[in-house]
Amino acid sequence: MHEEPLFEKLTLIGLGLIGSSIARAAKAHSAVRKLAALDSSPQVLARVRELQIADDASGDVARAVEDADLVILCAPVGASGAIAREIAPHLRHGAIVSDVGSVKGSVVKEVAPLLPSGVHFVPAHPLAGTEYSGPDAGFATLFKNRWCLLTPPNHAENDAVEALAEFWKRLGAKVEVTTPEHHDLALAITSHLPHLIAFNIVGTADHLEKVTEQEVIKFSASGFRDFTRIAASDPTMWRDVFLNNKAAVLEMLSRFNADLAALQKMIEEDDGKGLFDLFTRTRAIRRGVIEQGQDTAAPDFGRPTARENELKP
Ligand code: NAP
Repeated sequence: MHEEPLFEKLTLIGLGLIGSSIARAAKAHSAVRKLAALDSSPQVLARVRELQIADDASGDVARAVEDADLVILCAPVGASGAIAREIAPHLRHGAIVSDVGSVKGSVVKEVAPLLPSGVHFVPAHPLAGTEYSGPDAGFATLFKNRWCLLTPPNHAENDAVEALAEFWKRLGAKVEVTTPEHHDLALAITSHLPHLIAFNIVGTADHLEKVTEQEVIKFSASGFRDFTRIAASDPTMWRDVFLNNKAAVLEMLSRFNADLAALQKMIEEDDGKGLFDLFTRTRAIRRGVIEQGQDTAAPDFGRPTARENELKP
């Protein structure tokens, strides 16, 4: 059991899925002595008070930020600049400012110039989430055994980077340091493009249903159902991700389109061997993901089988 808090006061800005999960995890692991919450939505702040996941959720920016030694921005990435501008005059000397944004390059560009000297900026991205949003969606174990990537600028002080790394480890995450450029490229293919494909395929099925005036989505097979789960993710968050990681997403999209065209050709030319070889390679990659503990091996992602559903009281 951890005894000593790592920070005297943490201020979280944006108490949705990620912010409220940090609040719950920080409390559960005694990572901070005091916790303040800020959000642009009075309803979210009222809910935070009801849930009792922060010591202060008054909505007063100066009061929330002034004596914080760690401030984490947890709003959609498009709001980062405006938030930095709002909190900058209240930040105390020596404070660490971080974020959880799914894009790093644009956040660094927007936020860094707005922070006063003497404040340490160490951007971060916990690779953990669900398709749900808001303060009720968060939970304390969200970051357990998940990666958290830190992208400190070259001149960042080592002590600040170490302190933030310790904070995320206390919450259960595994921490690695990388550059914003590498982060944005890697996440474009492992997270952003899969979401784009999910939004697109669900949109295409919906359109097909409309033009054929026949039921399509009703007959969702498991593959399509998994896409609908991803496509249910927060529209504001994902709009901001694509607009802020434009270059990397467009590069990945053009690679994807080229590979898709090759796949189309294999089908047209009855190239069974080509299809079989590709599917064999991708199956091995899935096994690797499970072996690394990044997903469950449960069939159909652990959904109850029809038989189990039948047996439910
Ligand atoms: P969320 O559940 O929608 O929560 C975002 C919260 O921020 C909402 O309460 C929102 O209020 C508030 N907000 C918006 N603009 C604000 C502003 N200017 N000042 C203060 N609060 C503001 O979103 P989330 O899923 O937690 O995502 C938050 C961040 O985490 C995003 O940057 C996202 O890229 C990153 N992230 C998300 C995931 C994921 O899977 N969801 C995973 C890792 C990282 P309103 O509802 O009133 O707009």
